[in-house]
Amino acid sequence: MYDILILGAGPGGATAAIALATSGLKVAMVDKATFPRDKVCGDALSGKVVSLLKYLSPESLQQLYDFPEKLGSWGIRFFAPNGEALDVPFKSARNPQMEHAPGFISRRMDFDDFLFKEAKRQHVGLEVLEGFQGKKVVVDTNKVMVSDGQKELTAKLLLAADGAHSIAAKQLAGITMDRAHHSAAVRAYYTGVTDFHEEDFIELHFLKDLLPGYFWVFPLPNGSANVGLGMLSKDLRRTKTDLRANLQKVVATHPALKHRFKDAQLEGVISGFGLPLGSKKREISGDRFMLIGDAASLIDPFSGEGIGNAMISGRIAAQHAMKCFETGDFSAEFLKTYDEAIYKKLWAELNLSHKMQRLVNFPSLFNFVVRRANRNSAIRDLLTMMFEELDIRKELSKPSFYWRLIRGR
Ligand SMILES: Cc1cc2nc3c(=O)[nH]c(=O)nc-3n(C[C@H](O)[C@H](O)[C@H](O)COP(=O)(O)OP(=O)(O)OC[C@H]3O[C@@H](n4cnc5c(N)ncnc54)[C@H](O)[C@@H]3O)c2cc1C
Repeated sequence: MYDILILGAGPGGATAAIALATSGLKVAMVDKATFPRDKVCGDALSGKVVSLLKYLSPESLQQLYDFPEKLGSWGIRFFAPNGEALDVPFKSARNPQMEHAPGFISRRMDFDDFLFKEAKRQHVGLEVLEGFQGKKVVVDTNKVMVSDGQKELTAKLLLAADGAHSIAAKQLAGITMDRAHHSAAVRAYYTGVTDFHEEDFIELHFLKDLLPGYFWVFPLPNGSANVGLGMLSKDLRRTKTDLRANLQKVVATHPALKHRFKDAQLEGVISGFGLPLGSKKREISGDRFMLIGDAASLIDPFSGEGIGNAMISGRIAAQHAMKCFETGDFSAEFLKTYDEAIYKKLWAELNLSHKMQRLVNFPSLFNFVVRRANRNSAIRDLLTMMFEELDIRKELSKPSFYWRLIRGR
């Protein structure tokens, strides 16, 4: 029997494994896939990933800086529904020649394999099992058991980082898909897309005909691009939007995009996947288990970013796991402190992003903010500071912010 079984070796699971490297516990990490494996994603790694690694494992951060399969990105280019673009750098003062970029874009095939290898390198003694698909998970008084139908793995504690279709979320926490707090998205890789920002800004397009959906184009190393389209599942059902067909239509016909895709080639197929959003709180632990990352529905409802929060929750779950072994207490009651710690760290931001997500329902307000910001450098600076400071970002959810914009102050 293991002390800890980590189910899923994506960013959440691998981070938990790194955070448990010096715990002295008997830890196993299992995944249904064999690495390197793909994961449908926009592939954007925000400053959260960098900060987490800086704190948890500076050595891994240095490895990431040296990792060739990534592209540094210095900001976001927003396209309002009327087509006007607004550039918002991630940092106010920046020197791309002298410092590392605040964010990166790296195919998940590469980045997840990088982190998976880091977990194995840093956590000497970690048992790793690939090709094991957990199908059934049961908790009894002394242990938790995960079975793939043939083989059964047992542990004192389960850290479930098994993604958006988590068996632990369903079978142990009773979490089901809630279309008001869930998005669906498709992603395609293209080569030959032109006219990116010179500092490789990621691009978010709020296209008039596809609202409340959002379209993205993220540059990748070697001239490739990650292109995608997402929408809240509730709206997708209501509008009966075909995401795959619309993605192809946008790149072929949209006036602001078609010339950039003139010589572009689709690489492989257009793939889809779900995003369990963190716009409502759930119970994410119970007797002998904690949920991590997408299994715990922690994706940012505005940006769709989930890698950073998966890694943060992996680290916090590891800390709470060690407390369980120190006290000998694996009860749901004791593990409530895990839920509290997660939401203490992430809820203010998730809640704010939920409010900002609703802004997309007011296209003229969006157009207005972009127009004002383009004409006023103080507003642009404020938007940049919003990436650096959550308190400043809160301004965006206050009516007074828009009132000041209207009055030109
Ligand atoms: C289209 C799309 C675009 C996105 N864009 C971005 C973006 O640009 N930036 C960003 O930060 N986030 C983005 N996200 C969200 C991001 O992909 C997730 O939040 C992130 O992958 C969560 O990490 P995780 O470790 O929780 O889960 P995952 O990365 O999904 O890892 C789960 C792991 O568990 C394994 N697994 C699953 N089930 C089982 C099982 N039963 N038994 C054993 N193993 C199992 C899987 O093989 C996988 O390796 C996007 C999501 C989608 C769908």
